[in-house]
Amino acid sequence: MTKVYLSLGSNMGNRQDYLKKAVESLDRLLETEVKAVSSYYETAAWGLTDQADFLNLALALDTQLPAESLLSACQAIEKDLDRVRHEHWGPRTVDIDILLYGQEIWRTEHLKVPHPLMTQRAFVLVPLLEIAENLVEPQTGQAYKKYLSQIDTSDVRKLEQVD
Ligand code: ADP
Ligand code: MG
Repeated sequence: MTKVYLSLGSNMGNRQDYLKKAVESLDRLLETEVKAVSSYYETAAWGLTDQADFLNLALALDTQLPAESLLSACQAIEKDLDRVRHEHWGPRTVDIDILLYGQEIWRTEHLKVPHPLMTQRAFVLVPLLEIAENLVEPQTGQAYKKYLSQIDTSDVRKLEQVD
């Protein structure tokens, strides 16, 4: 079993419902078990900022799927949940990114793990550290907490009211 951390985001339609369905689909994957799910966080769009706010969460799972198979499975779930790829960083019903896959380092075109932008993104780190406070970066041993203390988190707000 490998411990994996994912970041999920949605900024179209019923965002909470899309995220919930994505978590359920991940838990239904063969040889995969969702172990922890963060709260929902309302976050301002990043990169392309002229679009609706996102709802984000992080989750931990244990899986026997190899990293590339897990990526394909995540992409199939995105597709199932109505995702149409329009533009990079554009609006989406569900985005599923692999943050960490055990201690593995991937730098191929279609799979980069640890996710290269995770240390700069409060909408990734805030939910992630809620479920794994003491997580450290595989390559450096640096605590992700340390990265979070160096970035602005004012655009990330925990959703208190959950349907
Ligand atoms: P983004 O998440 O950057 O907004 P997309 O979800 O459209 O963009 O993904 C673009 C590509 O990123 C995918 O085709 C996928 O192969 C690649 N990719 C590279 N590393 C990862 C990763 N760690 N998790 C998910 N996708 C990744
Ligand atoms: Mg993605």
